[in-house]
Amino acid sequence: NIILSVNGLTKNYKNICAIKNLTLSVERGKIFGLLGPNGAGKSTTIECILRTKKYNKGSVEILGMNMEESKKEICKEIGVQFQADFFPDRIKVGEMCEMMASLYKETVNWKSLLGKFGLGDKIKQDISKLSGGERQKLSVFIALINQPKLVFLDELTTGLDPRARREVWRLLKNLQKEGLTIFLTSHYMDEVEALCDEVLIINNGQSVIVGTPDGIVEKS
Ligand code: ADP
Ligand code: ADP
Repeated sequence: NIILSVNGLTKNYKNICAIKNLTLSVERGKIFGLLGPNGAGKSTTIECILRTKKYNKGSVEILGMNMEESKKEICKEIGVQFQADFFPDRIKVGEMCEMMASLYKETVNWKSLLGKFGLGDKIKQDISKLSGGERQKLSVFIALINQPKLVFLDELTTGLDPRARREVWRLLKNLQKEGLTIFLTSHYMDEVEALCDEVLIINNGQSVIVGTPDGIVEKS
């Protein structure tokens, strides 16, 4: 039961080949990790999958639909985390949630759910006054506000301290139990070990190994 499939994806920036012939598939209900060092092509892969960047070759299917033909339908079913440092200045947590929720017809009752994320008492607080971990949790929360089946998370714990990272991990594991499928990128092996059911390591835009985190650790 495949929810996302990427076939032979290739993306060049002028003379730089950022991704070369990348193929992957994500099963429904799993946490899939794209692991690689800085510059490996992780962000480019997400941007090509979401079609916010054009690619040179290959194809992408989400929920059995083609992103070019069915962008609107697909966007209703997916969530995308934007980087926590992109929050606008002087906006309160509640205002941000309300604004994002208003973009969708059917949304979660976000006020009751915010508590699950440990942010229940922060509704009236300025986002700029949250800790790094709280901001990161908020950016995940907002990606889930349209109740997506599949969520994309790019480098979600970069810059967080160990405690905040573990908290975010626990949150994601709980969401998985409720049926969410997660596609994430990371440059930390311990993160994909803690979270992922399947991992694809990329380097220089090319697939190096794919497998379970345990299998990959044994090989390397
Ligand atoms: P990662 O997310 O793994 O750090 P990126 O996808 O950001 O990697 O980058 C992959 C490669 O593509 C790198 O060599 C990067 O310098 C290059 N790259 C990314 N964006 C652009 C761009 N807009 N123009 C030219 N090169 C880019
Ligand atoms: P990330 O790893 O999160 O993609 P980067 O620092 O690689 O962050 O990229 C930040 C921005 O700069 C992105 O919009 C990317 O497309 C662009 N960029 C990255 N590398 C290059 C490059 N070699 N030439 C031009 N633009 C680039």
